[in-house]
Amino acid sequence: MAKVKNSAESVNGDRFKFEYAPAPEAIDMVKIKKENKLFINGKWVSGKSEKFFETINPANGEKLAELTEADAQDVDRAVKAARKAFNGEWSKISGKERGRYLFRIARIIQERSRELAVLETMDNGKPIKESRDFDVPQLAANFFYFAGWADKLEYLFNGKSVQPLGIAGQIIPWNFPLLMAAWKLAPALAAGNCVVLKPAETTSLTALLLTEIIEESGLPAGVVNVITGAGKTGAALVNHPDVDKIAFTGSTEVGKTIARSTVKSKKILTLELGGKSAHIVYEDAAIEQAVEAVVGGIYFNQGHVCCAGSRLLVEESIAPVFVHKLKHRMASLRVGDPLDKNTDIGAINSRSELDKIKKLVAAARNEGYEYFETAATALPEKGYFINPCFFNNVASSANICRREVFGPVLAIQTFRTPAEAIKKANDTAYGLAAGIWSEKGSKIHKTAAGLKAGVIWANTYNKFDPASPFGGYNESGWGREGGRHGLLSYVEVK
Ligand code: NAP
Ligand code: MG
Repeated sequence: MAKVKNSAESVNGDRFKFEYAPAPEAIDMVKIKKENKLFINGKWVSGKSEKFFETINPANGEKLAELTEADAQDVDRAVKAARKAFNGEWSKISGKERGRYLFRIARIIQERSRELAVLETMDNGKPIKESRDFDVPQLAANFFYFAGWADKLEYLFNGKSVQPLGIAGQIIPWNFPLLMAAWKLAPALAAGNCVVLKPAETTSLTALLLTEIIEESGLPAGVVNVITGAGKTGAALVNHPDVDKIAFTGSTEVGKTIARSTVKSKKILTLELGGKSAHIVYEDAAIEQAVEAVVGGIYFNQGHVCCAGSRLLVEESIAPVFVHKLKHRMASLRVGDPLDKNTDIGAINSRSELDKIKKLVAAARNEGYEYFETAATALPEKGYFINPCFFNNVASSANICRREVFGPVLAIQTFRTPAEAIKKANDTAYGLAAGIWSEKGSKIHKTAAGLKAGVIWANTYNKFDPASPFGGYNESGWGREGGRHGLLSYVEVK
């Protein structure tokens, strides 16, 4: 198969050749501590082993701060603090009072939203327009939403009592550090649990800023404990005997390890894992809108989205037009400084992630699939960046069509009938999300009924609401987060 590499100019002529003036977001409101401690029992404390690790800004490779590496003794201290709070003050507080704390946290998040967005972009590499317009508003929205549930839980099941589980160990990934923290903390607290949270190694700074906000809200000591560290810290939390529930978001590989190590315990487990989600675009779809959503679904946030639309199934009759329009739109994407308000695609979160993406792309190119990459900007010299790209006419058996790349890489296939589209979309070990594009409601419903995916969007993609449950089939995970479903995974109904 022919290998094609184009540049922005060759697709669009001179259209995107003009220069944008830099529009960097100010960073002076963000105060980053050089050394960061653990938050246990309402206090900032040093780790027992006094070991530290670095977190960097992936847009320039520079060190931002040092974080404490919590060991098994620190995990034990945090779990003990959570248990003490759970048996003590927190259990005596009414649902209404718990809701008040959550509302207070949500309001402080709104007050400090710029600081949170800028820090998220500096530590994670995602464009400021995303952290500002998506991550932080969603963070606040989740606390507001679950705050509203806290005093209504007792009415959920007529004649039964709804009790918290106890201590929740929560482990989150680096792609949406703040939002994932909200999905974990807000329902757990609304339901009356106490928490030990472990953020991802490369993106702990905003979790620590959120912890400051929680501290500012006056939440009783020990209700939320935050411990930074690596995979070993997470494993110690998973294996702690006094933890009642593990909520994990991350890779399928680590999810499976956690499932194995908790299987013989009483721990309740929810897993939100990877995906290889597909868009199905029928010939009667609104093509421009579909192109926009396909671009947004895989290229924005650098493809670091568990439900990224990383596969495109397009009806054969419109495939050439669709691919042409896609190339045209890609050529206007700006890859670069995540703090610049014009940037569409920021930095890949770490060198190891960038290397992983490049390796998968190189392997697929070696297999001879039609390849296209472009952007409106030259790649920055410093930092971890990659151009958005796609592979066209990919075989279902191809690695690039089956493996989660977790980068701005799209695999395109065609189909002729709805049945073929459904079969190809379901031909994956995952089952997190899907997008269906058609003008006909009946076709959308019929297609959706055949898909094995936790979330299905119709004529839109990546739309989130705290009231809506989220989760996957098969290797995409167990259980649901968000909405009433998410709340119920933190309670026992007696
Ligand atoms: P990861 O390597 O699985 O890490 C996730 C978290 O688990 C991190 O905090 C990590 O700590 C910790 N961890 C690592 N090894 C552990 C172990 N043995 N026991 C307990 N905890 C351990 O995943 P990632 O690379 O950060 O995140 C990307 C993945 O998350 C993708 O596959 C993506 O699809 C998935 N994801 C899914 C959803 C969803 O809702 N379904 C949402 C977001 C992301 P360290 O950071 O220190 O390694
Ligand atoms: Mg970082």
